[in-house]
Amino acid sequence: MLSVEEALDRLLRGLAPTDAEPVPLAESLGRVPTADPIVATHDVPPFSNSAMDGFAVQAADGDGRRRLIGESRAGGPEAPRVEPGTAVRVMTGAPMPEGADSVVPIEDASEAEGWLEVGRPPDPGVHVRAAGHDVAVGTALSLSAGPITPSVIGLLAAMGHGDVEVRRRPRVAILSTGDELVPVGAPLGAAQIHDANGPALAAAVSEAGGAPLLLAPARDDPGEVERRIREGVLAADMLIVSGGVSVGEHDHVRAVIERLGTLDFWRIAVQPGKPLAFGRVDGRPVIGLPGNPVSALVTFELFVRPMLRRMLGLAGDGRARVTARIDEALGKDPARRAYLRVRVCADGDGYRAVSAGGQASSQLLPLATANALLIVPEGESATRPGVAYKAIVIGAIE
Ligand code: AMP
Ligand code: MG
Repeated sequence: MLSVEEALDRLLRGLAPTDAEPVPLAESLGRVPTADPIVATHDVPPFSNSAMDGFAVQAADGDGRRRLIGESRAGGPEAPRVEPGTAVRVMTGAPMPEGADSVVPIEDASEAEGWLEVGRPPDPGVHVRAAGHDVAVGTALSLSAGPITPSVIGLLAAMGHGDVEVRRRPRVAILSTGDELVPVGAPLGAAQIHDANGPALAAAVSEAGGAPLLLAPARDDPGEVERRIREGVLAADMLIVSGGVSVGEHDHVRAVIERLGTLDFWRIAVQPGKPLAFGRVDGRPVIGLPGNPVSALVTFELFVRPMLRRMLGLAGDGRARVTARIDEALGKDPARRAYLRVRVCADGDGYRAVSAGGQASSQLLPLATANALLIVPEGESATRPGVAYKAIVIGAIE
């Protein structure tokens, strides 16, 4: 059996990033910028301005009286020049008037009949935001290490970028296989189940930054599987097939991939998961995941998510890790590394994990309520109560 690391290493080998496309800034949330660095073409803020509502003055006047000669509003007309012995009323964000070097906050001054009394002499430069104090012109910003967040959108807007070049979302076709499968929405006949993997994997693709193309389930017929795999490969940068990859009499996915292209079939020392087919058809990656919904989603998390991120120019799986103590013994296969479905919560200085429910790979409900995958190493046949294990965070921790 391959280790998780070896399998991942082979899957990532030779994956090229997608090309760049411009998008309007307002649509760039979650996308990955391609320009690195982005160089500021002007100062942010573009002019020095007041950090307070108050009065722009010359600090050298100390605590003396000053004559009020005008005002400077945010976005307002130019204020008169501040000479010794004078002051200009300023609002937060208003340009500093010429000649002024400091701002006396409104609460540190009193104003009567056009004159200003200053209680305390201002320090030179106090409450003034210099031009470029956030981002100076010429600053080289490296933003491509992660998807664009609301604050990055704010920063790029402040820098004047109406569009941003981002990596095209990898297009991923998703094909469920099985005679028992019926698309969600259609009524179930005898011995039929709804296709859960298709919608789940499509969502996982979106979450990872890809663009899913959900295909209707294929029947366990070699000709149909071949046709549908061809169709999926033509429509996308990558094809994910679920079900039909193992050794059953009606498992045709491996033979079809082999016929159409090249195939690697691995047994990976992972639980849930184990069998994974990886091939190339027309040069595009085709990944055959196990049919059990938990196996399909956990192997997606471990193997396909990092592939999509690699295609987006991002490293790793983008998930946080915590170390969480568990107080129960959850059984597992000692030959494989387990990723158990748990709920992690903060507990004192650390975290505590409790099983989210049954750990069978056919039990989707516990995965749906889990917020972490507890990593239990090869060699152990159960979690050891009181011991802390590393966990991959897949949902919010309360
Ligand atoms: P397979 O890998 O095709 O042998 O399927 C293993 C198990 O997963 C069987 O119980 C299938 O019914 C189930 N399964 C396969 N594909 C799906 C799917 N798309 N949605 C829900 N269950 C599935
Ligand atoms: Mg099947």
